[in-house]
Amino acid sequence: AFDVLVVGGGPAGASAAIYAARKGIRTGIVADRFGGQVNDTLAIENFISVKETEGPKLVAALEEHVKTYDVDIMPLQRAVSLSEPQKDNKHAGLIEVKLENGATLRSKSVILATGARWRNLNVPGEIEYKNKGVAYCPHCDGPLFKGKHVAVIGGGNSGVEAAIDLAGVVGHVTLLQFDTELKADAVLQRKLRSLQNVTILTSAQTTEVTGDGTRVNGLTYLDRVSGDSKHLPLEGVFIQIGLVPNSDWLKGTLDLSKYGEIEINNHNATSLPGVFAAGDVTTIPYKQIVIAMGEGSNAALGAFDYLIRQ
Ligand code: FAD
Repeated sequence: AFDVLVVGGGPAGASAAIYAARKGIRTGIVADRFGGQVNDTLAIENFISVKETEGPKLVAALEEHVKTYDVDIMPLQRAVSLSEPQKDNKHAGLIEVKLENGATLRSKSVILATGARWRNLNVPGEIEYKNKGVAYCPHCDGPLFKGKHVAVIGGGNSGVEAAIDLAGVVGHVTLLQFDTELKADAVLQRKLRSLQNVTILTSAQTTEVTGDGTRVNGLTYLDRVSGDSKHLPLEGVFIQIGLVPNSDWLKGTLDLSKYGEIEINNHNATSLPGVFAAGDVTTIPYKQIVIAMGEGSNAALGAFDYLIRQ
């Protein structure tokens, strides 16, 4: 059995594994896709102390760093269930993680770092122009559109926050909301409406992201009031219709927020004894690489603290 078993191999999981292994305890890491969302990122300019890097380069560096420690890496494996610490049997005190391939892993503590995924619009052009004008993270990619005309899709808090944030960096922002009105908090809506370089379109259903074959050049939307189809020339499209935590397999096992995020305390402990969580799958408000790494190390230290008290 492991002392610490990490589920997830993104920045949070990699960091947790390194911090755990450095304590000299038996550490394992199970990951469906090592590197997580970082694999899908092109330019990374906010990974502090590294002026500029690219997703795949950072993933390779993460993997190399983990491999310098005595960590049992189990790549291409999906966890499908998690148990409470076992009672009254030969595995008493151990938590069980079942994998899709039928195997069962046992550990004294578990760190969940299964991340999240941006909700896709599912319109033509979205996948084709991902990282070629279609973006999901204003903190990450906003500066790449300095002075340009971009759209934000989504009129909830994240869409309106993104539009306010981008308006300070880009030339012009058009916010498209499917519904008849914005759903964001009133204070955010007021701030948005005070900005000179923002246009708000409600009852606007984005139907296609258009491009010239290499980059985004606009989007087409249906005006749900008039029934007309319209085209907006643009250089970027930020999709802000929600982030989905990868926690479906944990439902009913531990406390999740109403958005499906794992509830944690400031030691990154979950509601299940011995189970910790870190990164985008948790209730931490901001989802970024440096934050996920910090959270992963905090979770590993929390798990170590738990183990020495058993
Ligand atoms: P993830 O990176 O999502 O990793 C989750 C891991 O868990 C993966 O290994 C996955 O395969 C694994 N997993 C999931 N479910 C299971 C399961 N059931 N069993 C086993 N393994 C499982 N942040 C920045 O700071 N700067 C940027 O420039 C930036 N750009 C971005 C661009 C894009 C297009 C995207 C999508 C995100 C970007 N982000 C950026 C956000 C950043 O990538 C995330 O905040 C960060 O990767 C979160 O790390 P994580 O380890 O919590 O989760």
